[in-house]
Amino acid sequence: MPCVDTLDHAVDAHCHLDVEDFAADRDAVFERAHRVGVRGFVVAGVGPEAWGAQRTLAARPGVKWTAGLHPVAVADGADVDAALAALPQAFVGAHAAVGVGETGLDRRAAHAPTLDRQEAAFRAHLAFARERNLPVVLHLVACYARALDLLRRDGLPPAGGMVHAWSGGPELVRDFCALGLHLSVAGLVAHPRSRRLRAAAAAIPFDRLLIETDAPDMAPPDLPRRNEPAFLPAIAAAVAAARGCTAHAVIVSTAANAARLFGPF
Ligand SMILES: [Zn+2]
Repeated sequence: MPCVDTLDHAVDAHCHLDVEDFAADRDAVFERAHRVGVRGFVVAGVGPEAWGAQRTLAARPGVKWTAGLHPVAVADGADVDAALAALPQAFVGAHAAVGVGETGLDRRAAHAPTLDRQEAAFRAHLAFARERNLPVVLHLVACYARALDLLRRDGLPPAGGMVHAWSGGPELVRDFCALGLHLSVAGLVAHPRSRRLRAAAAAIPFDRLLIETDAPDMAPPDLPRRNEPAFLPAIAAAVAAARGCTAHAVIVSTAANAARLFGPF
């Protein structure tokens, strides 16, 4: 017989549990996440050097990973070519990747490559994802109008995708959803000054909503600076408060959406 517990299988739709920050206590990080009902994890790719570690993590229950080259890592054209040439390998064999990314556009990151260079890599990732019909994981910072144009022109795979750490305000929610994307809300939603993000979190249709920690980055306020999936319930609670629903409703729908996008956890 189902109990409340079986419904509380929250999914952290975007995190980086493969990084050095978790080297010392990775098992404990998973343990703490499991204890608060977080059972699914999408470990997002930032570059080929980490794909091996991500694949190893995906041997753990509930862990999936995506392969891509992060937009701030496309400074060198040779790196982009090598990453794109290696991309097909990420999708074969045991514990293969389930999506393409992170890719996208970032105008704010320190030492960000030119937008033209980012755009070329972004379009190549999209073309690969369309060809294989794989969901994409998008990283968009201060480039939403340009990204919307590009996505409308090039098109997304039927498998769709997600915009991680949505920061496009409430106005663009409808346009991005119309493209077939899911929008993922991160810990900033709990910050007292994040009024626009809370308005966006309230505007995202329930069947397109995701939640994420982006661990180890973007910790919600009043929590340790190193973010981890065990903090996901705080994000679910802040999204629920913005929408005027229960955290349970947010957890159940976001977990179902993540499973539809990336497969069962
Ligand atoms: Zn990320």
